[in-house]
Amino acid sequence: MKPPIEILLIVGLLTVASAQTPDWCKSQPRSAYRKLERVRIADPWFEVYKIRPGVFAIYEPHQFEEVISYLVVGSRQALLFDTGMGISNIKAVVEELTRLPVSVVNSHTHNDHVGDNWRFTEVYGMPTDFTRTNAKGSTADAQAELRPGQICGTLPAGFDAKSYRTRAFHISHWLHDGDKINLGDRTLEIIWTPGHTPDSIALLDEQNGLLFTGDTYYPGPIYLYRPETDLDAYVLSVQRLAELAPRLQLLLPAHNVPVADPSYLPRVFDAIQQVRHGQAKSVPSDGKREYRFEGFSFLMS
Ligand SMILES: [Zn+2]
Repeated sequence: MKPPIEILLIVGLLTVASAQTPDWCKSQPRSAYRKLERVRIADPWFEVYKIRPGVFAIYEPHQFEEVISYLVVGSRQALLFDTGMGISNIKAVVEELTRLPVSVVNSHTHNDHVGDNWRFTEVYGMPTDFTRTNAKGSTADAQAELRPGQICGTLPAGFDAKSYRTRAFHISHWLHDGDKINLGDRTLEIIWTPGHTPDSIALLDEQNGLLFTGDTYYPGPIYLYRPETDLDAYVLSVQRLAELAPRLQLLLPAHNVPVADPSYLPRVFDAIQQVRHGQAKSVPSDGKREYRFEGFSFLMS
């Protein structure tokens, strides 16, 4: 017996859909998000979670990087730690969450963290050549984010894939290690953590025991294979963050999941030392070497 035409059509559509669904997408939504407080916003490209009073994670679950930007709100002003992919409009999301003036600080200037910097007038940067070069904008890294298998779900209506690039942005203030930014009733300290890139920083909210780790630590494969990565510097930076761990309550990483236990920092330090001393085994992964540990890994060339 022939199945009715409708069933054939549905089976056909499902086959097409599953052929296009990348593996990383099948494990979404990540279970950690179930425990978090979701904040409804208009733009379906982003998901927003309230992590602590005045601390919002702005997550982009539909692109492989699963990048997370953070809005930290004080009594006088707000700080946006990264601006995401630039695929949709993060500024509009921020304006739904606060009416205070917003300054942008970047965890580092890889394309997936500075995509919407161009929309803001107050942008802080680290005084490195790497930062200055990236502020001029670029196309190749942005286009690579749209390769087959990189998108889960649908791109925003009106998004033009062909012209997608990281737009140039203007840095209005330069930051240095140890600088403190007072948002009113909340102070954030810049911790320079070169390694992943020369301009990588973490943000410390000492009073609340929060550390925004950028790409120096997140639960997933940590990228340490690009030419701008300095492994010796990375080891020292992770050591510095690990020393902060006893004073911390929560890590807020820049990819995958916006909450992690501070006990990961000494574990990452221990793991990277094992790798540097040739005591860890790697597995081949997509033309790179991956050193796997519980809850994270290092991806190296
Ligand atoms: Zn990065």
